[in-house]
Amino acid sequence: TTVIEAEKGTQGQLQAKEQELARHYERLCKQGLKLDLTRGKPSEAQLQLAAGLDGILASDCRAPDGTDCRNYGTSQGLTCTRKLGADLLQVPHEEVIAAGNSSLTLMYQAVLTGYLYGFGGDAQPWRSLEHPKFICPSPGYDRHFTICEQLGIDMVSVPMTDIGPDMDAVETLLREDPEIVGIWCVPKYSNPTGVTYHQDTLERLAQASTHASPGFRIFWDNAYAIHDWFEHTYLGDMRSTCLEYGVDDKLIQFGSTSKITFAGGGVAFVSSTEQNLEALARVMNAMSIGPDKVNQLRHSRLFAEFTGLREHMAGHAEILRPKFECVYRHLREHFDGDGPEQWHETNGGYFVSFNTRPGCAKYVVELAARAGIKLTPAGATFPYGEDPQDSNIRIAPTYPPLDQLDTAMATFVLCVELAAVRQQLGMI
Ligand code: PMP
Repeated sequence: TTVIEAEKGTQGQLQAKEQELARHYERLCKQGLKLDLTRGKPSEAQLQLAAGLDGILASDCRAPDGTDCRNYGTSQGLTCTRKLGADLLQVPHEEVIAAGNSSLTLMYQAVLTGYLYGFGGDAQPWRSLEHPKFICPSPGYDRHFTICEQLGIDMVSVPMTDIGPDMDAVETLLREDPEIVGIWCVPKYSNPTGVTYHQDTLERLAQASTHASPGFRIFWDNAYAIHDWFEHTYLGDMRSTCLEYGVDDKLIQFGSTSKITFAGGGVAFVSSTEQNLEALARVMNAMSIGPDKVNQLRHSRLFAEFTGLREHMAGHAEILRPKFECVYRHLREHFDGDGPEQWHETNGGYFVSFNTRPGCAKYVVELAARAGIKLTPAGATFPYGEDPQDSNIRIAPTYPPLDQLDTAMATFVLCVELAAVRQQLGMI
């Protein structure tokens, strides 16, 4: 019997199922597995695709406009690299700063700018408010939440749906709470749910921003802009949408090549209006005399002269498709999608987000740990690490080799099934 059949059957069938799964589980625990599904990192084969970066300059460090990249200066980044960022984020290059190795750093600097100084115009610095707050669509990216936590900015969760954040909730907050100063958005292949925002969500967010407080900003973290592994998923143009509603000053977009070339060794980009970028540059320029233009030039050479960005991503897709297929196959084989166990199948990005029955996620992570499978701690995808349903688990399938991923997923589904049966029996 499957768990679903056992659940529909008698208590005796459920107990028999528990014993069968427990035996299987104890056998697995003795195998001494040591596998890791926590890391949203590219695999070695993916990194190898960008091996051409090394040595590409061959001592010629002049950018196309004559800039000697080895020296200080050009704090907004090389024009050729700003154009690369413009291509990635689909915005004019004049509105892009090409920065250092991490978009997360840029996000921290942008939040700090809003907090300490505000973005100019009518906007007060957020620190002058009693309780500045960010809207945090959840589950979401834990590192966004960490930035808020470190700066003492309150976080208000709103649920993620299959088309983006629950916009009824977002609209109400923006209308009723003048202390809402920001919202975190990962609009394409969202971390961790894999959801891409629909155009309707973009429109509603732009419209709701018209009655937000002047200091409010949308943090549009487009980390997976071109990371399509199956079909390409279309994300609407948030810049144009905001321009239509006259709120382009509310939008700050981020991206990087961390999951295109080298993770932590790429180039990060931020794009916004001139006034927002000026306010941000004040903080950035106090922290650094300028970005690593040598690395910027390496990236511009690799993509401008040899392979296009998108062609390069097709190589990543080849490597990652079988891994995502493996995860989906295990889930489909064990759960019918109609029960409490839910997941979202996506065309790209780095994660699969899985919901156990409410109240089981922490227990599943514990069971998996005992069997040698490391999972992201349950709750990590929610502000303050608190999943109110204790249900969400983030699976990161990109790093392990396929055979290890296969073993890890087989163990994972067993742990989910065991937890489900034990919960039915009142054992947890
Ligand atoms: N944003 C999101 C949504 C991410 O998933 C990640 C990487 N895990 C980052 C930002 C980090 O990007 P970077 O390396 O450019 O700081």
